[in-house]
Amino acid sequence: MDINIDLFSDTGTRPSDEMREFMAKAEVGDEQLFEDPSVNKLTEMSADILGKEEAVYLPSGLMANQISFAVHCNPGDEIIMDESAHPIHYEGGATAVISGASIRSVEGKRGIFNLEQFEKAVRTEDYHDPQSKLLSIEQTSNLGGGTIWPLEQIDKLTDKAHELGLKTHMDGARLLNAVAATEISAQRYAANFDSVWFDLSKGLGAPVGSVLAGSKKFINEARYWKQRLGGAMRQAGIIAAGGIYALENNLDRLKIDNENAKLLAEELAQIPAVEIDSSTVETNIVIFKIKGVKSAEFAENLLEDGLRVSVLHDKIRAVTHLDVNREDVLDAINIFKKYLK
Ligand SMILES: *Cc1c(COP(=O)(O)O)cnc(C)c1O
Repeated sequence: MDINIDLFSDTGTRPSDEMREFMAKAEVGDEQLFEDPSVNKLTEMSADILGKEEAVYLPSGLMANQISFAVHCNPGDEIIMDESAHPIHYEGGATAVISGASIRSVEGKRGIFNLEQFEKAVRTEDYHDPQSKLLSIEQTSNLGGGTIWPLEQIDKLTDKAHELGLKTHMDGARLLNAVAATEISAQRYAANFDSVWFDLSKGLGAPVGSVLAGSKKFINEARYWKQRLGGAMRQAGIIAAGGIYALENNLDRLKIDNENAKLLAEELAQIPAVEIDSSTVETNIVIFKIKGVKSAEFAENLLEDGLRVSVLHDKIRAVTHLDVNREDVLDAINIFKKYLK
């Protein structure tokens, strides 16, 4: 069955013809020796966007999280994050393997927890306890439904973390979707974080990579981990050029993805069988439940009509992106309606 409308994930975005041409012409060199001009340009652009001293290009977002944890924590230390966070569910247990840190999960609301919950999660000085070393937040929260951590709340939590001697990390896989939605700059969102990264291979439409940023000292240590994990590359400029093209051309259009998700959520909310609060949809992710229907079966049915979504246990997730336009969203809505009469 052909998939005509793919709302499975924004990871499915493919490089456009223009991006491919740009990549084909990229100047390259040995990235491990800092001799790749395209990688150097991408990391400079990204450090600027995030307002940090330096940045490092990595093959994936997962590696950006894990390298950050490894720099900030020793084995046995503890990282505080929401129970829905990516490292808990989708990183193959890498935190236990690579940094050896453990994770203390907090039961936030749609991926976001408050100052009181954070303070409660921080360990006291007691030899029985692990040591709290890092606060990690996900902007936007994926399993929270693309929700945006409000800047005020970020500031409160990160200030408190620093006051208590913890470092702060932002998993900004979709940070730029939050920027498009609020017009608060990435620099401002990232200001209070010791490490922060964004993904190039999601809504930005590049085929590979993430960029991790922080202080010179942090990035220097991150480079040791990049080497150790086999993440250092050679003529990576070919793929990094996709990231440069994305930052130059695809940033502003993230607004469109956010708007399309809102449209989808509002239309879904009109269908009696759908459980969704469309006011909680702030960026490009729409998560909903369908009353009385098994989500996996429902998703199978949609495939017959060429529409793909993802299944999260009893819920459905639909993600808008570069390869889905407003007409596709309207078509998707009609397909949903067909099955939910
Ligand atoms: C996708 C994602 C990651 C991992 O990024 P990859 O580039 O797929 O390795 C990490 N955190 C969040 C919130 C994500 O959505």
